[in-house]
Amino acid sequence: MEEIVRISCVKHVYPDSTEVHLCGLDFVVRKGERVVIIGPNGSGKSTLLYHILGLLSSNEGSVRVFGQDPAHDYDRIREKIGVVLQNVEEQIIAPTVEEDVSFSPRNYGYPEHGVKDLVDDVLRELGISHIRHKICHYLSGGEKRKVALAGALVLKPELLILDEPFEGLDPMSRRELVSLLNRLCEKWGMSVIMSTHDINVISQMADYVYVLGQGGEILVMDTPADLFTRTEYYRQARLDFPILIELFRLLKEKGLAIDMPLDVKDAAEQIERLAGMVGHPHP
Ligand code: ADP
Ligand code: MG
Repeated sequence: MEEIVRISCVKHVYPDSTEVHLCGLDFVVRKGERVVIIGPNGSGKSTLLYHILGLLSSNEGSVRVFGQDPAHDYDRIREKIGVVLQNVEEQIIAPTVEEDVSFSPRNYGYPEHGVKDLVDDVLRELGISHIRHKICHYLSGGEKRKVALAGALVLKPELLILDEPFEGLDPMSRRELVSLLNRLCEKWGMSVIMSTHDINVISQMADYVYVLGQGGEILVMDTPADLFTRTEYYRQARLDFPILIELFRLLKEKGLAIDMPLDVKDAAEQIERLAGMVGHPHP
């Protein structure tokens, strides 16, 4: 599979001399992969994403995105990348939803009818056609996030980058966003790189997970299933276990023959199997 992103041992020194050393393992993303970066606050998740986006540069280590160094040649790759950063408010620039979502296709010189088709498509895809004429300023937080996402997705990017996309979303909106992203990845073959400290997202939408520790150290890369068995990394990264994992870990310690569950459905099946083995006949 084609490699689209590689970060090798980037050391970023902020003006106040805070160091973020993204080292330990290379950060690699291949085409079509959904990669989730987890780590505590201040571990360097945003710093890593800013390097992919060419918003930060460093003299130490290397960053390649679609074969380019984004700090110098972002213009060559920008059309392939959609972005929603943490502060959505700052990203919404036009007065109405329609104008805002039209911004990049217009900017790239698409003809007006082409712009309209692209905007129609993405608004429909995100289920927000009904707010297209609304003033962005008056939208709810969740709606603003969807508008920013529409702006990021309007050109059907090959790579979508999301910095803490679930912050401030209620559980239902969160679930909707996960299934929307999964659907688009499948439909368009899009890759996603997402930072979060919401560990429950991992089993719902990660092909691979990178765990960052303090100071930017890349502690581990794994599939969600394997990561759930390597609980030491959660402690190192100062993260909670997903509650389901915590439960199964306790049951395992009590000697029950179970595996770490991938998701709730898997957990239910394992419990059902165990209950069947106990074999209480129904009255
Ligand atoms: P995360 O996104 O994982 O919360 P960040 O990448 O934002 O972490 O920050 C990593 C570290 O760099 C933190 O210690 C943070 O305080 C520091 N940092 C981030 N931005 C700046 C900045 N502009 N100036 C100084 N320090 C910064
Ligand atoms: Mg951050």
